[in-house]
Amino acid sequence: MKREFAVIGLGRFGGSICRELSNEGMEVLAIDIEEEKVSEFKNIASHAVIADTTDEKVLIELGIRNIDHVIVAIGDNIQASILTTLMLKELGINKITVKAQNDYHEKVLNKIGADQVVHPERDMGKRIAHSIISNNILDH
Ligand code: ATP
Repeated sequence: MKREFAVIGLGRFGGSICRELSNEGMEVLAIDIEEEKVSEFKNIASHAVIADTTDEKVLIELGIRNIDHVIVAIGDNIQASILTTLMLKELGINKITVKAQNDYHEKVLNKIGADQVVHPERDMGKRIAHSIISNNILDH
Protein backbone atom coordinates (compact mmCIF):
# COMPACT_ATOMS: atom_id res chain seq x y z
CA MET A 1 0.00 0.00 0.00
CA LYS A 2 1.34 3.44 -0.92
CA ARG A 3 1.36 6.05 1.81
CA GLU A 4 1.88 9.75 1.32
CA PHE A 5 4.94 11.41 2.81
CA ALA A 6 6.42 14.89 2.58
CA VAL A 7 10.05 15.70 3.37
CA ILE A 8 10.83 19.35 4.14
CA GLY A 9 14.53 20.23 3.87
CA LEU A 10 16.66 18.23 1.47
CA GLY A 11 20.05 18.36 3.21
CA ARG A 12 22.00 15.17 3.94
CA PHE A 13 19.44 13.86 6.43
CA GLY A 14 16.21 14.89 4.66
CA GLY A 15 17.69 13.94 1.30
CA SER A 16 18.56 10.48 2.52
CA ILE A 17 15.05 9.95 3.94
CA CYS A 18 13.53 11.14 0.68
CA ARG A 19 15.69 8.79 -1.41
CA GLU A 20 15.00 5.77 0.79
CA LEU A 21 11.22 6.29 0.91
CA SER A 22 11.16 6.77 -2.87
CA ASN A 23 13.31 3.64 -3.42
CA GLU A 24 10.78 1.71 -1.36
CA GLY A 25 8.04 2.85 -3.74
CA MET A 26 6.44 5.41 -1.45
CA GLU A 27 4.78 8.61 -2.68
CA VAL A 28 7.02 11.46 -1.53
CA LEU A 29 6.59 15.22 -1.87
CA ALA A 30 10.08 16.76 -1.58
CA ILE A 31 10.25 20.42 -0.49
CA ASP A 32 13.14 22.85 -0.07
CA ILE A 33 13.56 26.62 -0.17
CA GLU A 34 16.59 26.27 -2.49
CA GLU A 35 16.05 25.62 -6.17
CA GLU A 36 19.31 23.69 -6.51
CA LYS A 37 18.26 21.14 -3.84
CA VAL A 38 14.82 20.73 -5.38
CA SER A 39 16.14 20.05 -8.88
CA GLU A 40 18.36 17.31 -7.44
CA PHE A 41 15.19 15.48 -6.32
CA LYS A 42 13.04 16.04 -9.44
CA ASN A 43 13.74 12.54 -10.73
CA ILE A 44 13.79 10.86 -7.33
CA ALA A 45 10.64 11.99 -5.50
CA SER A 46 7.09 11.83 -6.87
CA HIS A 47 6.95 15.64 -6.71
CA ALA A 48 9.64 18.19 -5.86
CA VAL A 49 8.80 21.82 -5.13
CA ILE A 50 10.56 25.03 -4.11
CA ALA A 51 8.79 26.55 -1.10
CA ASP A 52 9.33 28.38 2.17
CA THR A 53 7.42 26.20 4.61
CA THR A 54 7.31 28.91 7.30
CA ASP A 55 4.47 30.47 5.28
CA GLU A 56 1.15 28.85 6.18
CA LYS A 57 -0.49 29.88 2.90
CA VAL A 58 2.26 28.08 1.00
CA LEU A 59 1.73 24.92 3.03
CA ILE A 60 -2.00 25.00 2.30
CA GLU A 61 -1.42 25.59 -1.42
CA LEU A 62 0.92 22.59 -1.50
CA GLY A 63 -1.95 20.43 -0.27
CA ILE A 64 0.04 19.43 2.80
CA ARG A 65 -3.20 18.68 4.66
CA ASN A 66 -3.69 15.60 2.48
CA ILE A 67 -0.35 14.15 3.54
CA ASP A 68 -0.27 11.55 6.27
CA HIS A 69 3.30 11.87 7.56
CA VAL A 70 5.58 14.92 7.26
CA ILE A 71 9.31 14.84 8.04
CA VAL A 72 10.83 18.23 8.94
CA ALA A 73 14.55 18.05 8.21
CA ILE A 74 15.45 21.73 8.36
CA GLY A 75 18.83 21.85 10.08
CA ASP A 76 20.54 25.07 11.06
CA ASN A 77 17.52 27.36 10.90
CA ILE A 78 15.91 26.35 14.21
CA GLN A 79 13.34 29.15 13.96
CA ALA A 80 12.15 27.88 10.55
CA SER A 81 12.03 24.31 11.89
CA ILE A 82 9.89 25.32 14.90
CA LEU A 83 7.55 27.55 12.87
CA THR A 84 7.07 24.87 10.21
CA THR A 85 6.34 22.22 12.84
CA LEU A 86 3.87 24.48 14.64
CA MET A 87 1.97 25.19 11.43
CA LEU A 88 1.88 21.53 10.41
CA LYS A 89 0.44 20.77 13.82
CA GLU A 90 -2.19 23.51 13.44
CA LEU A 91 -3.11 22.16 10.01
CA GLY A 92 -3.83 18.80 11.63
CA ILE A 93 -1.11 16.62 10.10
CA ASN A 94 -1.42 13.10 11.45
CA LYS A 95 2.28 12.35 12.05
CA ILE A 96 5.17 14.81 12.26
CA THR A 97 8.80 13.71 12.60
CA VAL A 98 11.36 16.47 13.21
CA LYS A 99 15.13 16.59 13.26
CA ALA A 100 16.43 18.44 16.34
CA GLN A 101 19.68 20.38 16.38
CA ASN A 102 20.13 20.39 20.17
CA ASP A 103 18.37 19.65 23.47
CA TYR A 104 16.61 23.05 23.65
CA HIS A 105 15.27 22.59 20.14
CA GLU A 106 14.06 19.11 21.11
CA LYS A 107 12.29 20.47 24.20
CA VAL A 108 10.38 23.04 22.16
CA LEU A 109 9.48 20.49 19.48
CA ASN A 110 8.05 18.14 22.09
CA LYS A 111 6.13 20.99 23.70
CA ILE A 112 4.45 22.03 20.44
CA GLY A 113 3.40 18.45 19.70
CA ALA A 114 5.93 16.89 17.31
CA ASP A 115 5.15 13.14 17.28
CA GLN A 116 8.75 12.03 16.87
CA VAL A 117 11.94 14.03 17.47
CA VAL A 118 15.23 12.64 16.21
CA HIS A 119 18.88 13.65 16.67
CA PRO A 120 20.53 11.78 13.77
CA GLU A 121 24.14 12.29 14.87
CA ARG A 122 23.50 11.50 18.55
CA ASP A 123 21.22 8.52 17.81
CA MET A 124 23.66 7.04 15.30
CA GLY A 125 26.58 7.59 17.72
CA LYS A 126 24.69 5.60 20.38
CA ARG A 127 23.91 2.77 17.97
CA ILE A 128 27.50 2.56 16.78
CA ALA A 129 28.82 2.58 20.37
CA HIS A 130 26.51 -0.34 21.23
CA SER A 131 27.51 -2.25 18.13
CA ILE A 132 31.21 -1.69 18.99
CA ILE A 133 30.56 -3.07 22.51
CA SER A 134 28.69 -6.13 21.24
CA ASN A 135 31.34 -6.85 18.59
CA ASN A 136 34.03 -6.62 21.30
CA ILE A 137 32.09 -9.08 23.46
CA LEU A 138 31.83 -11.50 20.54
CA ASP A 139 35.56 -11.08 19.78
CA HIS A 140 36.65 -12.01 23.32
P1 ATP B 1 22.10 17.98 7.03
O1 ATP B 1 23.09 17.84 8.18
O2 ATP B 1 21.01 16.98 7.02
O3 ATP B 1 22.73 18.20 5.68
P2 ATP B 1 21.92 20.65 7.55
O4 ATP B 1 22.22 20.80 9.00
O5 ATP B 1 22.98 20.96 6.53
O6 ATP B 1 21.33 19.25 7.31
P3 ATP B 1 20.40 22.74 6.59
O7 ATP B 1 21.21 22.81 5.34
O8 ATP B 1 20.49 23.82 7.56
O9 ATP B 1 20.61 21.40 7.27
O10 ATP B 1 18.85 22.58 6.22
C1 ATP B 1 18.40 21.49 5.49
C2 ATP B 1 17.63 22.01 4.31
O11 ATP B 1 16.49 22.75 4.75
C3 ATP B 1 18.44 22.92 3.40
O12 ATP B 1 18.53 22.34 2.11
C4 ATP B 1 17.65 24.23 3.41
O13 ATP B 1 17.63 24.87 2.14
C5 ATP B 1 16.25 23.76 3.83
N1 ATP B 1 15.47 24.85 4.42
C6 ATP B 1 15.89 25.77 5.34
N2 ATP B 1 14.90 26.63 5.64
C7 ATP B 1 13.81 26.23 4.93
C8 ATP B 1 12.45 26.72 4.82
N3 ATP B 1 12.04 27.78 5.50
N4 ATP B 1 11.61 26.07 3.98
C9 ATP B 1 12.02 24.99 3.28
N5 ATP B 1 13.27 24.49 3.34
C10 ATP B 1 14.16 25.10 4.14
